[in-house]
Amino acid sequence: QLDSHPTGRHFLQIPGPSPVPDRILRAMSLPTIDHRGPEFGVLGRQVLTGIKQIFKTVHPVIIYPASGTGAWEAALSNTLSAGDHVLMFETGHFASLWQKMATRLGISTEFLAYGGTDAHLPHAPGWRRGVQADLIEARLRKDTEKKIKAVCVVHNETSTGVTSDIASVRRAIDAAGHPALLMVDSISGLASADFRHDEWGVDVTISGSQKGLMLPPGISFNAISPRALEAMKVAKLPRSFWAWDEIVEMNKDGYWPYTPNTNLLYGLSEALDMILGEGLDNVFVRHQRWAAGVRAAVNAWGLPIQCVDPAVYSPVLTGVITPEGVDADAIRRLIHQRFDLSLGTGLGKLKGRMFRMGHLGDSNDLTLVAMVAGVEMGLKLSGVKLADSGVQATMDYFAGHPAQVALLQ
Ligand code: PLP
Repeated sequence: QLDSHPTGRHFLQIPGPSPVPDRILRAMSLPTIDHRGPEFGVLGRQVLTGIKQIFKTVHPVIIYPASGTGAWEAALSNTLSAGDHVLMFETGHFASLWQKMATRLGISTEFLAYGGTDAHLPHAPGWRRGVQADLIEARLRKDTEKKIKAVCVVHNETSTGVTSDIASVRRAIDAAGHPALLMVDSISGLASADFRHDEWGVDVTISGSQKGLMLPPGISFNAISPRALEAMKVAKLPRSFWAWDEIVEMNKDGYWPYTPNTNLLYGLSEALDMILGEGLDNVFVRHQRWAAGVRAAVNAWGLPIQCVDPAVYSPVLTGVITPEGVDADAIRRLIHQRFDLSLGTGLGKLKGRMFRMGHLGDSNDLTLVAMVAGVEMGLKLSGVKLADSGVQATMDYFAGHPAQVALLQ
């Protein structure tokens, strides 16, 4: 409940769903059309072609009328059989949920994790770091019988604000000379953080609409390599709605075997125009700059950033650990109530110990300065001692680092 009658725009600063630009909202308000008619085929072909550029792939991308969780299931059920052994890496809550899903589907999972310690979060040291490719390589080298069918990792771990190095995982698999498929969840990384499906040799990339693509929740993706399509031919997990083969076939003409999410596809078409118009690599640079500006605030406050390794700071969100004994959710609630600003909660093992600030999609410098101001006021009202002004640090960062169009297309 807000303290006052809401006026102006709500500050939706969770790391997805992210704010939907007016351009996209307007595009989605067009009348729904016949999904078997000729106009639809034009739209279908257009979005299916455009989305490949976002994944940086020349191979098929499946679009499901489902949330990201559905696309996780699609990736597993199209490529694996019951009892297959897969290697997953515990980077945070979403990696854990995906592992739980794989187990439920009858897949045998091995959950690798960082083995070190952490002073701030002794119960979740791996939730402050990225995937360790050396551990993956060592495990694959031991698998002389090639029993491991897939390596599954999360690119941008939305629960922590860590963006793992996917190219290093591909190098590890190749160095071990292992045939395992590489499956990557880039649900919150795609269209905000650098991602290259083909170049990094990813076999299945899973993504969703409600983060970097700036769309409402409701569509999700599987980008699939030729090797993944081959794996599908022998994979025996039950699948029907998720089955790639029928969809790939009908997608050739721009149609789906079932009723697709027409109005979200209008939105996707608009989002593709916006992102590709700006230039995908410019979008990545923009997010890196925003993230640096927001981290400047957290550093000024003197609070620990959830991600301890600067090499894998997320450009999408920043997690902030609250002092021992201070309930991060109570701070979030106060900030929402007083300033109409939504922040991400601490998920799973991080419940109550941290909050997340989203800085993705349809935003700008002043929106982010306002977010930092809301957080700073909330921290102070909650009695958290701050070393310095985060608002000043963010303003200084943005003023001192003008936005650059890095790579004009
Ligand atoms: N994986 C990651 C990294 C996510 O951030 C999310 C959602 O936030 C999911 C998976 C699950 O996606 P959905 O909630 O759309 O089902």
